[in-house]
Amino acid sequence: MIKKLLGGTALFLLASSAFASECEATVESNDAMQFNTKNVTIPASCTEFTVTLKHTGQLPKQSMGHNWVMTTKENGQPVATDGMSAGLDNDYIKPGDDRVIGATDIIGGGEQTSTTFSVEGLSKDEEYMFFCSFPGHIGVMKGTVTLSS
Ligand code: ZN
Repeated sequence: MIKKLLGGTALFLLASSAFASECEATVESNDAMQFNTKNVTIPASCTEFTVTLKHTGQLPKQSMGHNWVMTTKENGQPVATDGMSAGLDNDYIKPGDDRVIGATDIIGGGEQTSTTFSVEGLSKDEEYMFFCSFPGHIGVMKGTVTLSS
């Protein structure tokens, strides 16, 4: 590493930033009600994980808002259903919902947000998912969260 650094190679910089981003992921969303990925992988070595959500569209959050919410697979739909009743003021998440492992605010086009949550209580024996809790979006805006060793 040091040898490469002294050499001033770009390789070192690439390796360095890849290391730093192990415990974080960026997910994009758009005006077509889509995430740009169907899976987020969390290395089991992380104690915390950060997800940055970008909305690359232009529509306001009132009509095409998105968030990134992580729950177990079985809790996804119930959390989204309760979130619908909670409304935009609560970012479509029932206040104090302890089934939520991590969740960002709802954002509109051109905005970005992030959430950092603890990974330590997660189990490889459990199935996890992420989704957008904006009413009606979970049908297409969802994916799996995998714990890797
Ligand atoms: Zn959405």
